[in-house]
Amino acid sequence: MNIILLGPPGAGKGTQARHLVETRNMIQLSTGDMLREARTSGTEMGRVVANVMDRGELVTDEIVIGLIREKLEGDKAGGFIFDGFPRTLPQADALADLLSSTGETLDAVIEMQVDDAALVARITGRFTCGDCGEVYHDVTHRPTVDGVCDKCGGTNMKRRADDNEDSLRQRLMEYYKKTSPLIGYYYAKGQLRSVDGLAEIGDVQKAIAAVLD
Ligand SMILES: [Zn+2]
Repeated sequence: MNIILLGPPGAGKGTQARHLVETRNMIQLSTGDMLREARTSGTEMGRVVANVMDRGELVTDEIVIGLIREKLEGDKAGGFIFDGFPRTLPQADALADLLSSTGETLDAVIEMQVDDAALVARITGRFTCGDCGEVYHDVTHRPTVDGVCDKCGGTNMKRRADDNEDSLRQRLMEYYKKTSPLIGYYYAKGQLRSVDGLAEIGDVQKAIAAVLD
């Protein structure tokens, strides 16, 4: 079974993808991971990627499609999760062509629906313990003692530089301009399934499982 996880930044696609990898033996194809892996793989595509990145150029759709093709031709395990690709309509068309040329199907596109205001509140209040990785939130999950990790007692709290409102709103705008048209595209193809991305993580897992089963 091959699926696409679709949703704005911060919707929890990565978290859900990791859960599917663990529980269903699926393979997560995240563009960033594939590019990093390709650089060290020694394959022909890997050398192309390394050259482009070393020159500071943008990685083209053709390169990403080439990397996905390599993955589709390898171990298929429980199927593939496309996470972060496609991001544009031309990429969606290219992926459809690739899948049909390799005899694979796209079984579902799962849209993780989130409300902007709630997303901004969720992302911008987030900080983590730099020692153990525990995730906290200004409003919903503060440590019992300010600045001290409940789990490990560490005092090294960290915030990601891009977890601020301006940066998130910019990434959301990108999503609405370039990626959200994919929702209509896959709806028209009868492949779109939507889940509430702001529900508890366990409930989102259940909703996705219901789609896949
Ligand atoms: Zn900690």
